[in-house]
Amino acid sequence: MSLTFISPPLQQINSEIVHHAGVDLYVLRLDLMHRWVNGNKWFKLKYNLLEAKQKNFTRLLTFGGAYSNHIYATAAAGNLFGFRTIGVIRGEERLPLNPTLSFAVQQGMQLVYLNREMYRQRNTAALQEYLQQRFGKVFIIPEGGSNLNGVRGCTEIIGDTMPTAGYAYAFDHICVACGTATTVAGIALSLHQGQRAIAFPVLKNGAFLAQEIESLLTNYLASGLPAAYSPASWELVCDYHFGGYAKVNDELLQFSEEHGVPLDYVYTAKMFYGVMDLLQQGFFSKGDRLLLVHTGGLQGNVGMEERLQS
Ligand SMILES: *Cc1c(COP(=O)(O)O)cnc(C)c1O
Repeated sequence: MSLTFISPPLQQINSEIVHHAGVDLYVLRLDLMHRWVNGNKWFKLKYNLLEAKQKNFTRLLTFGGAYSNHIYATAAAGNLFGFRTIGVIRGEERLPLNPTLSFAVQQGMQLVYLNREMYRQRNTAALQEYLQQRFGKVFIIPEGGSNLNGVRGCTEIIGDTMPTAGYAYAFDHICVACGTATTVAGIALSLHQGQRAIAFPVLKNGAFLAQEIESLLTNYLASGLPAAYSPASWELVCDYHFGGYAKVNDELLQFSEEHGVPLDYVYTAKMFYGVMDLLQQGFFSKGDRLLLVHTGGLQGNVGMEERLQS
């Protein structure tokens, strides 16, 4: 599937902290690939859309919160690739629609709301049957695009986007924000031995994600989907959640402004903050080469800023 995507630029960061730590640090700007369909959410959608097309589905149905980057990307990608889209939103309808949901509607997405209790059943056969009955033949993509198709797309984030072939393997550490761990699982499957993926959970008590990564890797390798390598080493750094999912404080907001890279408050700012802090603590060795994956999510800042002001 091609459209007006640009390959994500690599941006070098030369700040005082980076200089002092004696490392090379680059940011892979997945946020710049497309105006609306970008970041890791594009990679997680790609093979889901291809499967839906192959199976002759004309409609996609997916799930998300009211500020979801995945809802935003699915609405836009569905529109670009000729699918009708249905967004199942957690919680009650709030009017006027926030910027994320009004964009989704502009892209032609039909929104339906499930109360939190029903929403929790979203991956059960019972709820999916109910939705199939209500909406007819729909291709269901899980919340966040987090399935094996999603992992598969994320195996293409590092190697396939680099300016020159093999360049990806020049990096020692690949750092990425982590929600469901789908993205870091895909990245770990695409690295060479000796490289390390470092995931920064953005939710509290993120240590449970270690099991999640293990099972994603195991299921992926068992699925027969293409993977070039056995999974490289990976690590979770759980100390930079700032109180939990979508929680921020003034320090994080201030920090987000200071790096010459626009960061989203929910994901990439926390990962960036974590990396800068670790650099100051001497976590990395002099001469190490770091690649920070900018997974997008900037659309969410508009809604977050509105909420912070009210
Ligand atoms: C969804 C999202 C993530 C988390 O990806 P997972 O695959 O769920 O770990 C990271 N960054 C941004 C900007 C996202 O939108």
